[in-house]
Amino acid sequence: MIEIQNLEVQFPGDSGPITVIDDLSLSIGKGEILGLVGESGCGKSLLAKSIMRLVPAPGKITSGEILFNGDDLLTLDESEIQCIRGNQISIILQEPMTSLNPVFTVGNQITEVLAIHRPEMKKNERRQRALDVMKRVGIESPDLRFDQYPHELSGGIRQRVLISIALICGDVQLLVADEPTTALDVTIQAQILDLFVQLQAEHQMALLLITHDLSVIAQTAHRVAVMYAGRLVEIADVAPLFENPLHPYTRGLMRSLPQIETRPRKSHLPTIPGTVPNLADLPAGCPFFDRCEYGREEACTSTVPRLEEVSDGHWVRCHLWREIPRFASATPTARSL
Ligand code: SF4
Repeated sequence: MIEIQNLEVQFPGDSGPITVIDDLSLSIGKGEILGLVGESGCGKSLLAKSIMRLVPAPGKITSGEILFNGDDLLTLDESEIQCIRGNQISIILQEPMTSLNPVFTVGNQITEVLAIHRPEMKKNERRQRALDVMKRVGIESPDLRFDQYPHELSGGIRQRVLISIALICGDVQLLVADEPTTALDVTIQAQILDLFVQLQAEHQMALLLITHDLSVIAQTAHRVAVMYAGRLVEIADVAPLFENPLHPYTRGLMRSLPQIETRPRKSHLPTIPGTVPNLADLPAGCPFFDRCEYGREEACTSTVPRLEEVSDGHWVRCHLWREIPRFASATPTARSL
């Protein structure tokens, strides 16, 4: 469905271009849910915007290919990409209140997509299509909601409105969901995730689910990609990754998951020490070295590790993955999360 090859995105900096996505390659198949995880500042949202060809200026995609059904999105002109954006590839952003325009009704915002992509439809047909989609994504009383403004709706319904906007054309083949549940409370989050899984199965869409929350990935995704400092550091099917994460950063993320049953009350939640490095001043060698409990200066600080396939479909970017003991924390597996 989509294949990203050697993507590089740069922003200008005081002492030269800053590479914020570096040599990133991944693919998502038809009907597949790929979870993309990493801390803030790792480049996840910028990857989503790159796929949509919406990298904010002065940032630029400087090399690579994004093949969608065989066509390179990066070589299409603006009118060609507009035909695809919102039609075959849609995006749902993190905070529905800021994604929706407060001065237009939700019906207006949903049907606007049809006005652009389906200009032949009459106004009453657009309204009817919007009501059908709103109902399908679980919005009760769609007739009433259609004429309401975003501030009159709860966070969960606003998020369902954004999902309606993303699906309204009926042709979506790739849905990019950037932290779609972060702003929601836990029960609504579970409902929205269930809705994603249901819609993805119904439409056989590819879904790129971006989150900083590994438990969201465990519940929904088929494969997981982990990003750090603009690069992919590990990618694998969900079960092998949760059962045997190989990259020290992935292990740090897993240990940071709250574990109600296994951790004594009042114990501190483990964290990954330090912060994501400044991309304008990356160290030589592995960018995770300063935070890595397994790093060794002589092995890790001279060259950037390359992404290596360590077993079927399981890739990791670490010089020392063979020497790192098998993951033995009490982190729950994908199945038990
Ligand atoms: Fe840690 Fe070295 Fe692996 Fe980097 S290459 S993650 S520093 S062990």
